[in-house]
Amino acid sequence: MTSCFYRMKIICIGRNYAKHIEELANEKPENPVVFLKPDSAILPKKMPFFIPPFSNDVHYEVEVLVKINKVGKHISPKFAHKYYDTIGLGIDFTARDVQAKCKEKGLPWEKAKAFDGSAIVGEFFPKEEFDLENLSFQLQKNEEVVQDGNTSNMLWKIDELISYVSQYFTLKKGDLIFTGTPAGVGKVEENDILTGVIESKQAFQIKVK
Ligand code: ZN
Repeated sequence: MTSCFYRMKIICIGRNYAKHIEELANEKPENPVVFLKPDSAILPKKMPFFIPPFSNDVHYEVEVLVKINKVGKHISPKFAHKYYDTIGLGIDFTARDVQAKCKEKGLPWEKAKAFDGSAIVGEFFPKEEFDLENLSFQLQKNEEVVQDGNTSNMLWKIDELISYVSQYFTLKKGDLIFTGTPAGVGKVEENDILTGVIESKQAFQIKVK
């Protein structure tokens, strides 16, 4: 069963890598920036990503994903590792022009961040396969590396993020956390092929239409 058929939520973290904060000229936050995407944001597997008609500037943001494996609330960082077994990679597609208007007016970001198809969820791998504190991941656009990240550069580590978001939202089995994007975000164009790689494993490949 894929994640589209049961209720789940996607919790996204913004501004978790210093160099990405600089490239968008944002301020470094005191706490993680948190927003949600609904389950309808997930692009069904094997489908192309269609650039939505309301944006002329959709950006890719490659991010490490965490899949929650049981219910939890007020989780301490020390116990956060018990709440996930698998790690994946995905894209938080962002309509940057729409987001800029929302930001300017102090409005919520959902129209820019939570639209249909805005969440690419790739394959998941057992977390034991990786050193989570030093995990390298890339996004390739048409076979050229455009984002090259490493979790060692996260401002808040995975376990800290789980602890933080669980103060506000009960985490449930199947929920996903998008842990923020490193530098190198950019615009997608029709016919781009986007490939996500975590260590040397391909986690997804999608076509833009
Ligand atoms: Zn993001």
